[in-house]
Amino acid sequence: MIKDNLKEVRESLAEGVELVAVSKYHPISAVEEAYAEGQRVFGESREQELRVKYEALPKDIKWHFIGHLQTNKVKYIAPYIDMIEAVDSLKLMKEIDRQAEKNCRVIDILLELHLAQEETKSGMTPQECREMLDNGEWRDCQHVRICGIMMMASNTDDMSVVKREFTEADKLFAEFKESYFAGEEAFTVKSYGMSHDYMLAQECGSNHVRVGSRIFS
Ligand SMILES: *Cc1c(COP(=O)(O)O)cnc(C)c1O
Repeated sequence: MIKDNLKEVRESLAEGVELVAVSKYHPISAVEEAYAEGQRVFGESREQELRVKYEALPKDIKWHFIGHLQTNKVKYIAPYIDMIEAVDSLKLMKEIDRQAEKNCRVIDILLELHLAQEETKSGMTPQECREMLDNGEWRDCQHVRICGIMMMASNTDDMSVVKREFTEADKLFAEFKESYFAGEEAFTVKSYGMSHDYMLAQECGSNHVRVGSRIFS
């Protein structure tokens, strides 16, 4: 039951930890069930699926785009997206800026870091991210507000590996905050933790977890 799952997940979250209910691949009726329980923040990773849900569902839902976003898709979600979580290049950030400006909006984003062992995962390495931030061009993106970092840990049962990666994410957040965003009140989000590892993520400083199957399956 979605209702019961949601309740259990909520009760297991520390105060101040935001829950993004990841509804990708789940039907509109599943989102409606969670909505009826008061959930308002949902995560999707494909533009077309998101569009169908956005059009069908109440407009006070905050949609977070959590997947890899191609630059040519930004224009479709720019009018309504609440947060784009997986920004992994300056090129993508510039396109979000352009489309946000067209829509007279400022769009919240997170910087996606690649800290996992798998090559397949996307995101910037810490060094790539530092170089992008050092370069400073991102400061011209007046219609983008960088709110923090996002990452996915390695897909492994070895929780010591996962813990190491979460801890690294936490350190990088602190480093970036101090070096580039010290005066930015909005830079607060540490988005890591999914169904199988969000409890550990919280222990390692996450304040924004993205939980899908634990709620919807
Ligand atoms: C699917 C997905 C999640 C949720 O994963 P679950 O294991 O279903 O909780 C979180 N973050 C991202 C980026 C995802 O693609």
